[in-house]
Amino acid sequence: MSLHLHDVTVTLGRGDSRTTALRSVTAGFAPGVLTALVGPSGSGKSTLLAVAGALLRPDSGQALLNGTDLAALTDRERARARRERIGYMFQSGNLLTGLTAEEQLLAAASLAGRPPRTLRARARALLTDVGLDHRLSHRPDQLSGGERQRVALARALLLEPELLLVDEPTAAVDRTRAEDLTALIARTTRQYGCVTVVATHDPVVSGAADATLDMLDQAASAATPV
Ligand code: ADP
Ligand code: MG
Repeated sequence: MSLHLHDVTVTLGRGDSRTTALRSVTAGFAPGVLTALVGPSGSGKSTLLAVAGALLRPDSGQALLNGTDLAALTDRERARARRERIGYMFQSGNLLTGLTAEEQLLAAASLAGRPPRTLRARARALLTDVGLDHRLSHRPDQLSGGERQRVALARALLLEPELLLVDEPTAAVDRTRAEDLTALIARTTRQYGCVTVVATHDPVVSGAADATLDMLDQAASAATPV
């Protein structure tokens, strides 16, 4: 698996709120490499993850997964890639209402056509890794924001994704937990050789990354005519 963004531009919103969220971004991401996307709030980190995760089509440019332009896939193929090959942890956690932490993971397995019973032990191990072994039976409304994000991270890791996209994993946790979560993401990247892209403004995360992509540099270089 490799991910390449080539001259990607994304505009969001309509009328007065119309914003160029990404301007001519070109970047490559390799297997087994943890890349930190850094830059202030509003610099386009979440938008880049959405393009890479086949959730958002760029206005122009290409997102190439193993050389295949995501825009060239049908909606069905894109949905399938998201379920089976891409692990995505959204900033908001994005859990399903009414399901326990453990069920969140097993439901994702089931959607991807994998029998949940074969993944139960792994689901529990991952929830333990993110420090939630005492929260297996809690539903989202019984979890804190940081806990919900950690469930979402465990869920993103469950199926050993080829592409792991993580949005601000340490925004709602203390430093020790931030170090643990960062170590887990780094370990997963090496173990499975996945392409990992993490949006962050936490030095704990960027310090542990193999590569850093500064979203402001991207904007600056794109604004300069070559
Ligand atoms: P980051 O994750 O780095 O904080 P985002 O990718 O969320 O940045 O946002 C990039 C830019 O796009 C910001 O200026 C933001 O205000 C704008 N933006 C995001 N979503 C929308 C939207 N739905 N409509 C208009 N502008 C948006
Ligand atoms: Mg963001």
